[in-house]
Amino acid sequence: MITKKLMLFFPKCEVEKPIVYHLIKDYNLKINLIRAKITPEEYGYLVMDITGKEEDIERGLEYVKGFDVNVNATYRGLRHNEEKCTDCGNCLSHCPSGALVVEDSKTRKIIFKPDKCIECLACIRACPFNACISIF
Ligand code: SF4
Ligand code: SF4
Repeated sequence: MITKKLMLFFPKCEVEKPIVYHLIKDYNLKINLIRAKITPEEYGYLVMDITGKEEDIERGLEYVKGFDVNVNATYRGLRHNEEKCTDCGNCLSHCPSGALVVEDSKTRKIIFKPDKCIECLACIRACPFNACISIF
């Protein structure tokens, strides 16, 4: 079993199709939705963890690509703007996954590790300098 984090973008023509339902039912995949924005008759984004056998994930993604759906494996909705970040550390205790951490104990510089981010958005509320933003 492996888990992949993916972002799916559904254009207007695909937004109401039960694609996620078929990923679960027909390809034996477990879907953990992390973030979703669906506007009926317009477009939709889903950020999700997909867990299953590697071959089932590959088959499932081939199924998804049969629609006009954009699949992005590297996408992250959360952005950390280093120019705005003052390294104040306010976000550290709010980040549950260790995606925002102190890089060096001497400089106290904060770095963002996208692979660890679970898109909970707690840092957006915690940051006084708007250094953490979400692009959707
Ligand atoms: S969105 Fe959540 S997990 Fe990601 S960096 Fe911000 S607080 Fe951490
Ligand atoms: S709260 Fe904002 S400014 Fe402070 S360290 Fe975190 S991201 Fe940087």
